Amino acid sequence: MTILDGKALSNKIKEEVKADVVKLQKEKGVTPGLAVVLVGSDPASAAYVNMKSKACKEAGIYSIVHEMPDTISQDKILEILAMMNKNPNIDGILVQLPLPKHVDTTAILEAIAPKKDVDGFHAYNTGRMNLGLDSFIPATPYGVMELLKEYNIDPQGKDVCVVGASNIVGKPMSTLLLNANATVTTCHIYTKNLKEHTLKADIICVGVGKVNLITEDMVKDGAIVVDIGINRLDNGKLVGDVDYEKVAPKCSYITPVPGGVGPMTIAMLLKNTIKAAKLREESKLND
Ligand code: NAD
Repeated sequence: MTILDGKALSNKIKEEVKADVVKLQKEKGVTPGLAVVLVGSDPASAAYVNMKSKACKEAGIYSIVHEMPDTISQDKILEILAMMNKNPNIDGILVQLPLPKHVDTTAILEAIAPKKDVDGFHAYNTGRMNLGLDSFIPATPYGVMELLKEYNIDPQGKDVCVVGASNIVGKPMSTLLLNANATVTTCHIYTKNLKEHTLKADIICVGVGKVNLITEDMVKDGAIVVDIGINRLDNGKLVGDVDYEKVAPKCSYITPVPGGVGPMTIAMLLKNTIKAAKLREESKLND
């Protein structure tokens, strides 16, 4: 069994990003900038935003966090996003999810300029990704694809079971794997017999948010298991959706939690921010 080491690959990508930032500054006089919108006081969201800001700082990317109270109106968020869309120092904008219930998430995501949509959640980027065209790719599934590539795992022709079908994890994961010519089955809360599907899979990618959802009896020998889930236990320990200790010995490859997909997500966000900065540079040239 080989561990898919997301921490190691993410460090390598972060170094590449750092070098790219220096190059952009030297050659074009551009410092990439990322704006993060954090609404409310959810501690997990605040922790993710902190990690993203810290990673930006380390890579030399300029980053600002707009913190807003739970009670903020949707119109006010839209107003702030409109300002960021126009701000020439901001290349990428991301809104940390989930948003409070009174806010329409789709309306907020659609208000981000597609060329600054570094999370890749805008319908423009989702549509382009579906068509296999150049776009911003959501960082988590993008990170999974890069991790597979690093270990020379080609999804082409493989039976893949994606468990979880959210707009930000499961659906884009399935799309990217389909675009890579895998045979993809997407499972979700209404799937009748999850085990029936996971047992057939050469690759299982699970992103649900349920401790021990994937147990040893659900995984065939030699399968590749990618655990996207993040769950915090009462004792503070972070675990994924896979019963790691029992499942790992059956696998040819498996991601640990932490140290698998999580660090890749941050690295790919930085990569998307560099992409946005380059787009800004190109659009200046076209003016
Ligand atoms: P979500 O709640 O929006 O979606 C969960 C999905 O799981 C839904 O499609 C639902 O139908 C499905 N589901 C729920 N119970 C199920 C069950 N018993 N069997 C099969 N499917 C089931 O969550 P999300 O935002 O997609 O996040 C999913 C998980 O991924 C969470 O643990 C989240 O913390 C984690 N996550 C990790 C990263 C990372 O960087 N590693 C990034 C984003 C999200």
